[in-house]
Amino acid sequence: MNTEVSGNPCGVCGEIRPEMFKHWFDGYIKLYRCLQCGFIAQYPGPGINTIQTDYEDAYSLDFVENGSEFMYPERSDAFQDIVNRICKIKSGGKILDIGCGDGHFLYLCSKKGFDCSGVDHSKALTSFATQKTGAEIIQGLYDLEMFPENHFDIITLIQVLEHIPEPAKALEIAKYHLKSDGLLVIEVPSIHAPHFLLYEWTGIKKFVKPPTGVIVSHCGYYSPKSLTTLTRKCGFNQLSVTTGRWQFKYSGTLGIIGKMIDPLLNLTRVGGILYFGTISI
Ligand SMILES: [Zn+2]
Repeated sequence: MNTEVSGNPCGVCGEIRPEMFKHWFDGYIKLYRCLQCGFIAQYPGPGINTIQTDYEDAYSLDFVENGSEFMYPERSDAFQDIVNRICKIKSGGKILDIGCGDGHFLYLCSKKGFDCSGVDHSKALTSFATQKTGAEIIQGLYDLEMFPENHFDIITLIQVLEHIPEPAKALEIAKYHLKSDGLLVIEVPSIHAPHFLLYEWTGIKKFVKPPTGVIVSHCGYYSPKSLTTLTRKCGFNQLSVTTGRWQFKYSGTLGIIGKMIDPLLNLTRVGGILYFGTISI
């Protein structure tokens, strides 16, 4: 029994019994696994006590001075893959990217004719993204008052959900803003990525050192199962869950290897998660 997490329900499934939280990581932060859904979150349990990062004054535009068009140019192929997958389901319409950052993803969406909107907490990135995409980008923390009900055809959270302390609340707001036939797209890092699995099997913490492992700015660590549990609880039906996508993570020879092993990563549910869902009827 773990009395330290008493009173803090799992942010995904709502489990509250202390004995259902198993200690998973003890370092500069503490993480616990919910035995009910597999969600792993910060000490002392996800919710009101979760350590949060304030992004309002975060990020600089140094990448512009360094001659880069966007902050993470190496992510371009992964973003384009998501755009292409959306285009197979929706040929156009209004898209909202929550936590849109520098607008890289929305920039690619606008090239395909989508009517783009974004929300981001960083003042610097909001200003940059507005200028870069010409889209409506709101600076602030995503909330219900920002947009009308039934407004968007597509809502995306790309590498964002893991930074949100109350993920269920965010998805319930997204459901309110989505049209009844709307599409929800989520990309998150996976707790079943190889380095996390190696830590789990060996207990060696160096496998999960920052910046790719356990980091304070991540409020929760998802598996395909816990992400499906969360989205279902928030009223979404899963269309697809793709894991791996290493072909978009690397370039050159590693990209070719990624393309070869992606089917295996997807089959074994290893590596980053891309979720597509619609509103349950
Ligand atoms: Zn849970």
